[in-house]
Amino acid sequence: MNFRAIKGMNDILPGEIERWQAFERAFRDTVELFGYREARTPIVEPTSLFVRSIGEATDIVEKEMYSFERHDDALTLRPEGTAGVIRAFVEHHIDQKEPVTRWYYLGPMFRGERPARGRYRQFYQVGCELIGDAGPASDAEMIDMVVRFFERIGIGQLEVVVNSLGGPSTRPRYRQALVEHLTPRAEKLSEDSQRRLKTNPLRILDSKDPRDIEAMQGAPSVIDVLEGDDLEHWHGLLRHLEHLGTPFRPDPLLVRGLDYYRRTLFEIRTSAGQVGAQNAIGGGGRYDGLVAELGGPDLPSIGFALGIERILLAMSEAPAARKPVCFVAPIGQRASMEALVLARELRERGIVVDVDTRGASLRAMLRRANGLSAPVCLVLGDAEVESGQVQLKDLEGHGQSTLPRAEIVAQVVARLQGAGGTAG
Ligand code: AMP
Repeated sequence: MNFRAIKGMNDILPGEIERWQAFERAFRDTVELFGYREARTPIVEPTSLFVRSIGEATDIVEKEMYSFERHDDALTLRPEGTAGVIRAFVEHHIDQKEPVTRWYYLGPMFRGERPARGRYRQFYQVGCELIGDAGPASDAEMIDMVVRFFERIGIGQLEVVVNSLGGPSTRPRYRQALVEHLTPRAEKLSEDSQRRLKTNPLRILDSKDPRDIEAMQGAPSVIDVLEGDDLEHWHGLLRHLEHLGTPFRPDPLLVRGLDYYRRTLFEIRTSAGQVGAQNAIGGGGRYDGLVAELGGPDLPSIGFALGIERILLAMSEAPAARKPVCFVAPIGQRASMEALVLARELRERGIVVDVDTRGASLRAMLRRANGLSAPVCLVLGDAEVESGQVQLKDLEGHGQSTLPRAEIVAQVVARLQGAGGTAG
């Protein structure tokens, strides 16, 4: 029997994982500077949570969720992070503890989409939610934070597109204007969009089908139907972004997959690297009705999510540097016991140590040390343990010396710090 990972779900193994870890560290470092704190919520939630928040007539809810029943409960593997985070916010009455909440999350999401390069069934997102600030200054700050993050990790050729979907009163008006524009052209739409025209016409804006793009020519723009506070919010956002010097482009055709968005929407795209057609590396928006929709107080909120895989595809392939390894090769039983003590002392000084405890020949152990690209190998036999010495082999310079046991830790620290990798 040959087992294989499920299609669209990937193993991320050592060698590749270092880039993920570097990405995650950079993300945490960036958003924590903006006051965000991590919230970890379950991967499985009640199906109704997603139906309620994402919306019934969305691709995700209609056909992509991994749902199942257990103990009479209808459950779903989370297809995105916001619903769970807002559920937790409401459940724990966080609004009674602080007027503004800034949370971030990180983890796997599940959608049964057709797998392709940059599109998977289990994929990873990082994201932020800012609850309790109606913007538009906070919207601009969040968009700017995302741009700073991408700059920090070295992703160029960025395009930030922004749009507004207005408030609860805008949507029906815009929907109507769109339906009026598209109904006479309905036969020219793709089959999916003919259906969307009845269920969720805003999603047609998003379609990449040339027939739909053609039919959208001359369609009214959502910005044209914005009024009052919604219009003011939109202008406020543009003013703040201009003042911050954040590069952006208003795009009235931008809509995003989820139903809960209000007012500000944004998406970050890149033409760098190998993301291909899946060039949206992140996006977000304001969802002022969602907290109340999920049973909480009526608080405004805005958030975004970034797909890790796509961002890594957009980054140069340079592997993240690995800390240099000090290899310890004991020969004999006493040496093997002493090697573990020596390794502990080295690790306490921040050195990565790999002790070969197999009882293998010196040749086999040195082969492994070379395989790990260890700059330094410590060889100790029972005789050395007896005389209080350790042999240090410099695997880069090919020299070797015998040193007193008492000096060895300081020697290794000095050498490996020179190699640029150890913690101090
Ligand atoms: P969304 O939650 O659909 O707004 O997606 C936010 C980000 O998650 C996107 O910009 C992508 O980078 C990423 N993403 C969404 N769906 C997938 C997928 N099926 N596979 C890989 N990344 C995805």
